[in-house]
Amino acid sequence: MVRVILYLLLAVLLITLLRSVLGPIVRIAARWLLAGGAPGPRSTQMGGELRQDPVCGVYISTATSYKLSEGGKILHFCSEACREQYRRGKGRPEA
Ligand SMILES: [Zn+2]
Repeated sequence: MVRVILYLLLAVLLITLLRSVLGPIVRIAARWLLAGGAPGPRSTQMGGELRQDPVCGVYISTATSYKLSEGGKILHFCSEACREQYRRGKGRPEA
C-alpha cells in the first residue's frame, strides 16, 4: 500500500518536472516557428501579420488572435486567458 502511494508521488513529481522543463522549450520553439520560421508566404496565406502578445510575449497571427481594442489600437493575444489577464491587469471593466 505504501509502495503504491510512493509510486504515485513519484509519477506526480516526474510529470511536474517534465512540465517545468518542457514548458519553456515549447514556448521558445513556438515563438521561433512563428517569428522566424515562416518568412512571407505561409504567414500571408494564413492571413494577417504577426503581432506580439503583450501578456506572454508569444507571436500570433492577427488572423487567429484574440483581439482587444484599446484607445483606437487593437491588441492581439494568443488566448482568451491572456486577454482576460491583460484586462484584469489594467483593472478596467470591459468597454
Ligand atoms: Zn499569450
